[in-house]
Amino acid sequence: MKRREFLKSSALMGSAAVLGVSHYSHAAAKKATIQSYREIGKTGLKMSDISFGCGKLSSASLIARAMSRGINYFDTSPDYGDSEEVLGEAIKKLKKRDKMIIASKFCDKEFYPGHLPLGSKKSDFIKVVDGSLSRLNTDYLDICFVHALGEGTSLFSAALKRIPGLKASEKIRQEEKKRLLEENLLSAVETLKKAGKIRFLGASSHGPYFMKDLMMTAIKSGHYDLIMIAFNFLKFPEVPLILHEAEKNTVGLIAMKTLAGAKAMNLDPDGESFERAAFKWTLKQRGVNGLVVTIKSTDQLDLYVKASGKGFRASDQALLDQYKKLYNAKHCRTGCGECLDSCSSNVNIATILRYQMYFQDYGMEKIALEGYASLREKADICNSCVDAPCEKACPYGLPVSSLLQTAHNRLSFNT
Ligand code: SF4
Ligand code: SF4
Repeated sequence: MKRREFLKSSALMGSAAVLGVSHYSHAAAKKATIQSYREIGKTGLKMSDISFGCGKLSSASLIARAMSRGINYFDTSPDYGDSEEVLGEAIKKLKKRDKMIIASKFCDKEFYPGHLPLGSKKSDFIKVVDGSLSRLNTDYLDICFVHALGEGTSLFSAALKRIPGLKASEKIRQEEKKRLLEENLLSAVETLKKAGKIRFLGASSHGPYFMKDLMMTAIKSGHYDLIMIAFNFLKFPEVPLILHEAEKNTVGLIAMKTLAGAKAMNLDPDGESFERAAFKWTLKQRGVNGLVVTIKSTDQLDLYVKASGKGFRASDQALLDQYKKLYNAKHCRTGCGECLDSCSSNVNIATILRYQMYFQDYGMEKIALEGYASLREKADICNSCVDAPCEKACPYGLPVSSLLQTAHNRLSFNT
């Protein structure tokens, strides 16, 4: 309660002044503010239920505005463009580092996706954290994530040789489990914690492969303080099991990708908001400590914060049902991966469809293009695939082949 009162008080209005935001206190006073803070597992950190994803951060003043609304958790990564630098500018100017929870990733800024692969040295993990600290103008990260577990990056990367033998799915499962628990990582974490450079360790996954298996492993290992997973009201069946296990072990759980593709459907003629309904649905699930959503503008900030602390109503469910009706057969479930072994050409179906979502709906074109370019097998071969077995494998009936061909055209600038 103290923290919340503080965040809503003059201290952060002062921060806004530092950043030169005019009429700040007057405008902020009229705006919705965060109404709920929840503890992340047993870390002692209390995060705003609606929190700030910095994937598209371009302005330090937006961080000041977010803090004036009570947001205190900021999720960034070295491979989110200049996100760490911009957040670092805000940290430096606001001088409120102790009121912020900063989360970043074990990730190399030079590449996209730059998440350190299996086989990285202890010094690699330490080096990337030092890089983040320098860009963020801070001495410590509250949380550092082993990110993108289950993406199968090493298997699908154009930069690495394929090792023949196991089925693609089994190879990913084995590699990612090792990545989660590898000795060099854990030893680096111990060193970084002792040096006060990171406080807590997280594991995160937007799938597409083995999200449940990998997150269960992280939770039960005892090494991880929290997890962050992609899920939403179009959830795939195994998510509740992860929530239950996290709660049972008092491991923190943060949700991302809560807008199920974030399609602009104009569903709220009566002034209701699809986004707020989706957030409220996520936050009512037992075991969820908060959610992270990419915030690109003051308008989005104002819209999203209104969902904080609010109950989920029948009208919210009606909006979500409407969205589901329109979009159910087009949305690839992040974390699903059921189709992985159906493609003999090893097209990374779910990851390509996620990059397509970033490109089309998230305004994250650069990340989408770089990610697609890094994949060895492109979806152009779908054009000549006669029977498209991936479509029979998809339990949600997605027209996978045509979705992939559209994605290929967009992500390789063929249209
Ligand atoms: S259409 Fe064919 S080549 Fe393309 S992903 Fe599906 S199975 Fe693989
Ligand atoms: S295409 Fe279908 S089966 Fe494949 S990951 Fe997406 S939702 Fe799951």
